[in-house]
Amino acid sequence: MDTKQKDNQYIMHTYGRYDVALASGKGAVAYDEDGKRYIDVSSGIGVNSLGYCDEGWVKAVCAQAATIQHMSNYFYSKQPSDLAEKLCSLSGMAKVCFGNSGAEANECAIKVARKYSFDKYGADRNGIITLRNSFHGRTVTTLSATGQDVFHNYFFPFTEGFSFVEANDIGALEAALSDKTCAVMLEVIQGEGGVNILDKEYVQKLCELCQSRDILVIIDEVQTGVGRTGKLFAYEHYGVKPDLVTVAKGLGGGLPIGLCMCGEKLRDVMSPSTHGTTFGANPVVCAGANYVLDTVSKPGFLEAVEEKGAYLEQRLRAIDGVKNVRRMGLMIGIEIDGDAHALAVKCVENGLLIITAKELLRMLPPLTITMEEIDEAVELLAKTIKE
Ligand SMILES: *Cc1c(COP(=O)(O)O)cnc(C)c1O
Repeated sequence: MDTKQKDNQYIMHTYGRYDVALASGKGAVAYDEDGKRYIDVSSGIGVNSLGYCDEGWVKAVCAQAATIQHMSNYFYSKQPSDLAEKLCSLSGMAKVCFGNSGAEANECAIKVARKYSFDKYGADRNGIITLRNSFHGRTVTTLSATGQDVFHNYFFPFTEGFSFVEANDIGALEAALSDKTCAVMLEVIQGEGGVNILDKEYVQKLCELCQSRDILVIIDEVQTGVGRTGKLFAYEHYGVKPDLVTVAKGLGGGLPIGLCMCGEKLRDVMSPSTHGTTFGANPVVCAGANYVLDTVSKPGFLEAVEEKGAYLEQRLRAIDGVKNVRRMGLMIGIEIDGDAHALAVKCVENGLLIITAKELLRMLPPLTITMEEIDEAVELLAKTIKE
C-alpha cells in the first residue's frame, strides 16, 4: 500500500484531504512524493512560521534533541524557562502555563479564569461569553466555547457555562454580562470563521466594560499570534491589555506547543496539581519556539511581514475574480465568487497550497516568504481562477 492507501485504511477520517502526499520542503516551497513542486501559502495552517526546515530552527531543534529530549515537569528546565521569560518580557504578561496545542491553551485559560473567580467570588460566578462565529478548539470544552452551532453536535453533554454574542455589537455584550460572568473570550481576528477582523472600538469598549467589573478578558491568539499580523500579538493593534492570552500554531515553527499567558493579577491563581500535561514544556519543542521567537522579535522582522502583506494584498486585488481582500499582516482572507473549496482544490493541482476559511480562500504564508515566492503564488492563483 502507498501512503494514501494506508491513510485511507488506517487513519480515522476527521479531515478531508487534498490529493497530495507532501514529502519535503524548504522555505515556502514543498515537494510531494513524486517530486512535484508547490508554493505553500498555508504553512500548515499558520504553523511553519519560518517556512519549511529553516536552517537555524533545524539546528536549534536537533541540538536540543541530542542534548536532553524530555524531562518531566517535576524538574527545572532551561528551554521553557527561557521561552517563558522572553514571552513575558515581550508582551508584558506575568506568567506562562505550557501545553501542546491551541485547544489545550484555551482549556488552560478557561480553567485559570474560573479558578480566579471561584477563589474570589465563589462557585456560581463561572459564565464565559464568547463570540458568534468564533473557533476555540476541538476538545469538548473548547467546542462548547466555540460560537458556532455546527460544532455543538454528537458529543453531548457539552461543558456548561458558555453563552454567545454577535461580534462588533457592544450593546449585545453589555446585555449579556451579568454577576455570573467570569470571563469574555475572543479572537480579535476570527480565523476559521472567515478572517473577520473585529472593530477596534468594539474590542476597546469590550475590554473597558469587562475590566470595570473584574471580568477577565481572554484573547485567543492561537492563529493570530507570534508575528502573523505584523505585531507580535494581534491585540497590540487594538491598544488593549488582556488578562489571559493563548498562543499555539506558529510559536513552535512546526512542533506542537500551546500555552496560556496571564497578567499580573492572575500570577498566583494556579497552584500545584490544578493543571498540567506530561508533554507540556518539552525542551525540544521549546528550543524550536525559542528560535522562532528570537527571529520574529529581531528589529525589522515584523515590519517586513507587514510590507509583504501589503504587497500581496495589492497584487491579489488586481486579480480578475477577487472581490475583496481582508488582511492584517500575513493573515489574509480572499473573497471570491463561487466555491472556495473547489477553487482551492484546483490551486493545489496547479501547484499552490492554499486553504479556505468559510466561503473565503485563506492565505497564512510563512512569515519568511520572499517577494518572488509571493509573485509566483499570485500568478498561480490568477491562472487557476481564469481556468
Ligand atoms: C487552530 C485554532 C485553535 C485550536 O488549536 P489546535 O492546536 O488545533 O488545538 C484554537 N483557536 C484558534 C483561534 C485557532 O485558530
